[in-house]
Amino acid sequence: MIWLTYLPQASAQNPLVPDASKTGTTLNVSIEFSDSSLKKFEPRLRVLLEEAFSEYVGLFGGMPKAKDGDEYTELKLKVSHGVGGEADPEYIELRIDDTKQFGFYTWEMTLLHEIFHLWNGETFRYSSDREQWFNEGVTEYYTFKLAVKLGIISQTQVASRFAYPLGSYLSSRGLTKTSMSLAPLVDGGKRDHYFLIYHGGLVAAMVLDYQIRSSSNNTFSLDYLMRELYLSKSRDNRYTNEALVDLIDTSTGFKAKQFFDRYIEGKLIIPVGRYFDLGRLDFRQRMGGTFKQERDTVLEDMLEVTRSE
Ligand SMILES: [Zn+2]
Repeated sequence: MIWLTYLPQASAQNPLVPDASKTGTTLNVSIEFSDSSLKKFEPRLRVLLEEAFSEYVGLFGGMPKAKDGDEYTELKLKVSHGVGGEADPEYIELRIDDTKQFGFYTWEMTLLHEIFHLWNGETFRYSSDREQWFNEGVTEYYTFKLAVKLGIISQTQVASRFAYPLGSYLSSRGLTKTSMSLAPLVDGGKRDHYFLIYHGGLVAAMVLDYQIRSSSNNTFSLDYLMRELYLSKSRDNRYTNEALVDLIDTSTGFKAKQFFDRYIEGKLIIPVGRYFDLGRLDFRQRMGGTFKQERDTVLEDMLEVTRSE
């Protein structure tokens, strides 16, 4: 359980003071609004912060760590109008409006994405832009998964919501012309290749998670890699794509080198249907389990869908 303590807006007269009587799992959060019209979002922001911190501390096995390597005691969240967000150690910037990116991606999902970056990207970090697919794609994957768990994506929407990034990966410019790994370094970089990097990265994370689960009889998952990264990597000791292959092996036993050679460093398209079938997921949710296959069960567990029996 993570206790979040909320402090009044910080100022010169009222600086953030950590509560010395509480240690370990207490985080002092201050939320700063660019104007008072945004204050109505505060209760929802608190719920999402508490849910996300509980979930991610459990996933990684500890609080995010600051630049000095110590676990956080403070977090500042700055809220203004607009779309998008940013994360830095002990700091999140979030913009709020009514925009639904891709028709469904609201500021709530942006907040979950930025909170995940406090670990993936800020506690342990990529060596170069060649690992942006992992930094952004894995963050998106866990954002979608937590959105399902919190009901932001409803159970009946799971298949269609996860199908969206799969579709935009398959129609991304750059697909087969450049690799997911090199995309941030060619043309206009991350902006020109947003869908290959963010949504291609999400698809890569999903397929890796699926392969780890199915090859280990659902004993291991991508979660084990995330925990291993938290334990063994940092802002100074950064991970590379090559290190990820080794860490997947040590933490889950799955040999991912061929996958990386083909689909991350190589330009081949990930053959998703070889692993799982998102269309069947929706079909099974509505029609029941008449056509049950083992791969359906792994997918349901992976996306935290209520099991159809
Ligand atoms: Zn991001």
